[in-house]
Amino acid sequence: MNLFVYNANRGRVIFGRGSLRQLSGEAERLSAKRLLLICAPSQADPAAIIVSELGDRLVGIFPRPAMHTPIEVTEEALRLLRSSGADGIVAVGGGSAIGLAKALALRTDLPQIVIPTTYAGSEVTPVIGETKDGAKSTQTTLKVLPEVVIYDPNLSATLPKAISVTSGFNAMAHAVEALYARERNPIISLLAVEGCRALFEALPAIATNPGDIEARDSALYGAWLCGVCLGSVGMALHHKLCHTLGGTFGLAHAPTHTVILPHALAYNRPAARPQLDMLVPLLGENPARRLFDLAASLDAPQSLRELGMPEAGIGPAAIIAANNPYWNPRQLDEASLHDLLDRAWHGLAPTE
Ligand code: NAD
Repeated sequence: MNLFVYNANRGRVIFGRGSLRQLSGEAERLSAKRLLLICAPSQADPAAIIVSELGDRLVGIFPRPAMHTPIEVTEEALRLLRSSGADGIVAVGGGSAIGLAKALALRTDLPQIVIPTTYAGSEVTPVIGETKDGAKSTQTTLKVLPEVVIYDPNLSATLPKAISVTSGFNAMAHAVEALYARERNPIISLLAVEGCRALFEALPAIATNPGDIEARDSALYGAWLCGVCLGSVGMALHHKLCHTLGGTFGLAHAPTHTVILPHALAYNRPAARPQLDMLVPLLGENPARRLFDLAASLDAPQSLRELGMPEAGIGPAAIIAANNPYWNPRQLDEASLHDLLDRAWHGLAPTE
């Protein structure tokens, strides 16, 4: 075993069906007496439970989080937070709601209790991406790491099949890249394999019956572990490509991860075979192909074309991705990235 560093992020996790009812106790533990709630319109039902749980502790509701945390939305929420005199933040929803809570914590240092309802994983990372004038920039700071995460699988049971599947792929992408990360270590690799296992097994059951609560338990548990991977080690080609494609063409976050993951995995496998072989017992001899086939069997998008990327964008995207230097296990060049993106655009199977 080589020398390694393991960085454990702080954070308290409450997991289980019905755990939303622990919310006021958790607010009490944090000595938060005036809470601002952030929730998307899709979260009306949990929001109603939260309103009754928090009672007088709730001093405001901000119902308009947006994908990629636009600064204008943060500033609007910040005005409400200041005028309400809030001393804590509660967020319920996907990565967009949690991203807004993190943006507010970045500016105020207030404690956050977050209740994820998708599998994006942002709740356990010290990372925040924000968008200003259409450009997204990302920073890593412990100021944004939520103090408490409440994982209640009952809340994810309303997530539609299509979003459940792509969000699950988004989570598995964190784990796959953690296996070959420069900062990889045996603890995070264990979490990565277990996170992939839980999601790989749960997603077909959820696609068949989105109300399958045992599968929801398993998927949310897997998403947590995959999020820990994202929050602990650096990411590489897959995340950088998705960032480029999302930022340049406005492609939806989780579907882009779903299309790119098999291709990025196949591309990096020759340079990270021992690390990625940890997936072979779960995914077989060709993990990239298995994930590609899984996406197809669950009716998930398989091409960048169907996500709305113009074919003429392949060349510029390859140039941006090649010229923006970052660590990756396999060397990157414009021609290889062009080939990868071309296959992904057409929805062709990945090649190593
Ligand atoms: P999202 O939060 O935008 O949610 C997707 C859609 O699903 C929204 O319309 C939302 O209202 C709806 N939804 C969420 N939960 C639901 C439920 N239980 N039932 C019904 N509908 C529900 O998308 P996301 O994929 O969760 O998050 C994407 C965002 O998170 C992006 O901005 C991305 O950059 C960010 N992100 C950040 C990190 C990080 O570490 N900083 C990690 C992952 C994602």
